[in-house]
Amino acid sequence: MIPYGRQSIAEDDVRAVAEVLRGDWLTTGPAVTAFEAGLARWTGGVPCLAVTSGTAALHVAYAAAGVGRGDEVVTSPLTFVATAATAALREARVVFADVCDDTGNLDPDAAGAAVTGRTRAVTAVDYAGHPADYDELRALADRAGALLVGDAAHSLGASYKGRPVGSLADVTTFSFFATKTVTTAEGGALALPHGERFARAARFRNHGLVRDPAEQRDPGHGGWHQEVHDFGLNYRLPDVLCALGLSQLGRLPAFLARRAELVARYDALLAGVPGLRLPERRPYVEPAWHLYPVRIGGGRRREVYDRMRAAGIGVQVNYIPAYWHPVFEDLGYRRGMCPRAEAYYAEELSLPLFPGLTDAQQDRVVECLLAILV
Ligand SMILES: *Cc1c(COP(=O)(O)O)cnc(C)c1O
Repeated sequence: MIPYGRQSIAEDDVRAVAEVLRGDWLTTGPAVTAFEAGLARWTGGVPCLAVTSGTAALHVAYAAAGVGRGDEVVTSPLTFVATAATAALREARVVFADVCDDTGNLDPDAAGAAVTGRTRAVTAVDYAGHPADYDELRALADRAGALLVGDAAHSLGASYKGRPVGSLADVTTFSFFATKTVTTAEGGALALPHGERFARAARFRNHGLVRDPAEQRDPGHGGWHQEVHDFGLNYRLPDVLCALGLSQLGRLPAFLARRAELVARYDALLAGVPGLRLPERRPYVEPAWHLYPVRIGGGRRREVYDRMRAAGIGVQVNYIPAYWHPVFEDLGYRRGMCPRAEAYYAEELSLPLFPGLTDAQQDRVVECLLAILV
């Protein structure tokens, strides 16, 4: 089976991990700091915080944004459920706004119409690695007094109008799951330009512990004393995995280049096929392609999915609209709410895309798809 995504692990990665295993630190040590500094070179210098997953990063983001009961979070339904689930876990009400037809990203007009006085955060998702409309979303978030959050699980290394992802939102989150552009097996990170919000996020990642005596309520106990002022969790990404992440970051330029090359090949090989829509790219973005999402017309997506899978090609569907999950249905969310996202889902099929995909394998994917469609 040719998978839709796959990690790319080199001997250097293995060596970097083994070196940490032989050293003094397994958990929070120098590799964490080094990985965070390495990430910040990709976010235009915006400070980064490593956490245990992209989901944890979103949970920390909403905590650091002060999202809580009674607040609303406006976001896209065309995303992995974690974007919305983590806001719901903070007891916020998730308000889904529809997506743009070309990119599948949160539509600023729809988001603007969904914003109310209770909106605490507007969360963009850089679907497939194509940055969202950050200027428009920034303007409407500022008008609403809400924070702009970027779920950049797909888009590490992308840029928008010359500015890197990670520097565009008040809080940006990344995922380092095995299929994402850079992997730590499981892992994630946040980029936060605002110092106080960064400190809140760092605290939430570590049980909410306050270690600085100057900030403690009752500092007189002694050197061992730590206090919890707000509940947090243990979302610390260990040194072992940060070493893998740092090593992977060294190959990020090569990963991005190979993904772009494969996207250009798909674009050329699949151009003009009737009933097939290829992913579009706005002229002012440099995407970091995580997915190659095509749209299959004529109600044939299910058939194409089944036949490609049967032929050993691990196509995927990204994503079922988040509010179609029964957990949201049970909360009263109804189908039909975001028709463009639903139409996108009805046709979407992600073709295999990862740095290790060979031209010959890609040719096989294309031949198989063409044999079904034409
Ligand atoms: C992968 C992903 C997440 C969650 O990341 P994990 O590291 O798997 O927890 C969140 N949002 C989007 C859009 C993703 O693709």
